[in-house]
Amino acid sequence: MFIEFTKCILAFLIWTLIAYCIHRAAHIRSKANLLWYIHKAHHQKDYKNQRPSWPQWYEYFFCFGTTRRTLDIWIVFVIPLIVVTTVVGGKSWTLLPLYYLYEVFLADTVVEHNPKITGAITRFLSIGQYHLKHHAKPRVNYSFFIPLWDYVFGTCDIPQENSPRRNVTLTASMGTSL
Ligand SMILES: [Zn+2]
Ligand SMILES: [Zn+2]
Repeated sequence: MFIEFTKCILAFLIWTLIAYCIHRAAHIRSKANLLWYIHKAHHQKDYKNQRPSWPQWYEYFFCFGTTRRTLDIWIVFVIPLIVVTTVVGGKSWTLLPLYYLYEVFLADTVVEHNPKITGAITRFLSIGQYHLKHHAKPRVNYSFFIPLWDYVFGTCDIPQENSPRRNVTLTASMGTSL
């Protein structure tokens, strides 16, 4: 039981490290960087006027509206998770359904891009204002789920608590500030 739990934690850490590295590589500005071309679609989406909502029907099938947005999710999360859980083995495969539920029901506007999520929780989970800060300042806060790898690699920028002025709000010019 303990070994299986350890495998799940190990797989989660390896997976989030890979996602961090791919995400960071995707922000290397180059016309030759296909990852950036794909990931740019995520940053160009206007989250400003979106409210938490139920998933679109195609999102249940892990398609996310456009080819680039779908590829972004598959390259950063899905393929690495399949590879990592296959290599680590044991019960680490349980991360797959958990990730499915997170991505389909929670990730988009419910938690990751929800500006109402702020304060202490964003020190431990890379959601809400933590992730939105990455949209405003694309050189920080690359981590997903937990900010561990931002702490490790010095790319962490924690949103200030009790300071509404410093809370990140997405601007209409977000796409041009990448
Ligand atoms: Zn990004
Ligand atoms: Zn985002």
